[in-house]
Amino acid sequence: MIAVDPKVIPYGTHMYIPGYGYGVALDTGGAIKGQKIDLFYDTIQEANNWGRRWVTIQLLGKGETAEYVNADLSNLGGEVAILSFGKTDIEWPLAKDAELYRKYLQLDADWLDSFKSEGELAESKVDSAYGNASFGARVDKIWNISNIPSEKDQVDPHRVAWSLLASLDKVLGDPIVHGESGLESEGRGRKPNPEKHFKKLCPELEWQTFTLSYYETWTEEVKVGDEIQEKTYEKEYKKKIRLLTSAKCYDANYQYSWSENVEEQKTANGYKKIITPKLNSVVRTGPYYEKLRSILQEEGLGSDMDLELVLRIAENIDPLFQIDYMIFGTPMEIDLDTEISDDFSGNKFPVNPCTGRVTSSFGMRKHPITGVVKMHTGIDIGAPRGSPVVAVKDGYVVYRGVMGGYGNTIMIEHGDCRTLYAHMSRFNVNAGERVSAGQKIGEVGSTGVSTGPHLHIEVRIGKNRTEYLDPAKFLIF
Ligand SMILES: [Zn+2]
Repeated sequence: MIAVDPKVIPYGTHMYIPGYGYGVALDTGGAIKGQKIDLFYDTIQEANNWGRRWVTIQLLGKGETAEYVNADLSNLGGEVAILSFGKTDIEWPLAKDAELYRKYLQLDADWLDSFKSEGELAESKVDSAYGNASFGARVDKIWNISNIPSEKDQVDPHRVAWSLLASLDKVLGDPIVHGESGLESEGRGRKPNPEKHFKKLCPELEWQTFTLSYYETWTEEVKVGDEIQEKTYEKEYKKKIRLLTSAKCYDANYQYSWSENVEEQKTANGYKKIITPKLNSVVRTGPYYEKLRSILQEEGLGSDMDLELVLRIAENIDPLFQIDYMIFGTPMEIDLDTEISDDFSGNKFPVNPCTGRVTSSFGMRKHPITGVVKMHTGIDIGAPRGSPVVAVKDGYVVYRGVMGGYGNTIMIEHGDCRTLYAHMSRFNVNAGERVSAGQKIGEVGSTGVSTGPHLHIEVRIGKNRTEYLDPAKFLIF
């Protein structure tokens, strides 16, 4: 049974492996799906489809020296239990993980079930009816139900992902954390507590009451004796529903603001007025992941690395991740403490990335290998293999690894822009590390799709870091 959703662990994820310590996924083979580099696969078949079966994990937990573990997933029969590896989880049966997995899913399902679904709202009766209204009318007969967010729909974005719960439960229940390593049969070892941890991760919700309203008036001609009289009728329905106003979540605080959507309509013989809710705005405020951070700190996990582990997992499985993805670029590139601005200074960089001459400039060009005319998103600087490559500006390393045709690549976020260095032969810095202008980050190589040793450098701007600028404009020649 998988401990952490294999689809959500990107390259560079820090992990906690009981018995081994902390690890960071270094070489995942580089298969990229949906901007994430997969570590593990649900089945061997899937791994084979992507041509990947193994992962290298650099372990950071034991002293200064890093160990490397090659986890050959093909030998695990597809049953990946990366957070269950190790010596402190003595006699921990995989069947218990399977049981826990079901528990994690159940907690989430039960939580979601405590809120009204669209179907339940549709089938419920109105609260009040006046005039010629029929008492006992169903909500969906009065209002267009698709204009009304159900409670389930409203809370859905704030659900606790099971894989986050699983990782938190494992980390906090680990013998290294609670200090009781030993045999499971002796009441020691791993002590999961899914209910407790789920409760901690669950959002605190606040609701406002909103009254759905339906009013209609019309006239009809009625025969009174021999006389035809005009008679006016009216009917009114009201139904109170709940609208989410605030969700204090492990990742951020969300404030929802609602107003009335008023629909007025002349009918053939009268007038209709329908009031339904309208979502004005959702404001997400930080500091991000503060609640999760405090959960970990309460349990005595105060070190940066402990925090990093769970926070990274959280960031990557966040159901609202799409928002982050659009703001920050790829999942693994989120940094908690660095503001990413799309206000690029446009100043020249204080140093050049390497010494050499530009062999291919920015813009449209015929690709030297594929022959296809394509946008060249950076410039190539020819230099001998092994020449030092330095950071052009202060920043932090947001990516270190193989990136498709770019080969060995480093990306550095500078706050106002991001630089990318490709085809390198060696790395001298790690993901997450701060670097200063002029600091050596690696060496020139010819990895990836490349005809010979050169550095390909890009300058990316925009809030998604998806707009490319000509790096030559910011280098000193
Ligand atoms: Zn290039």
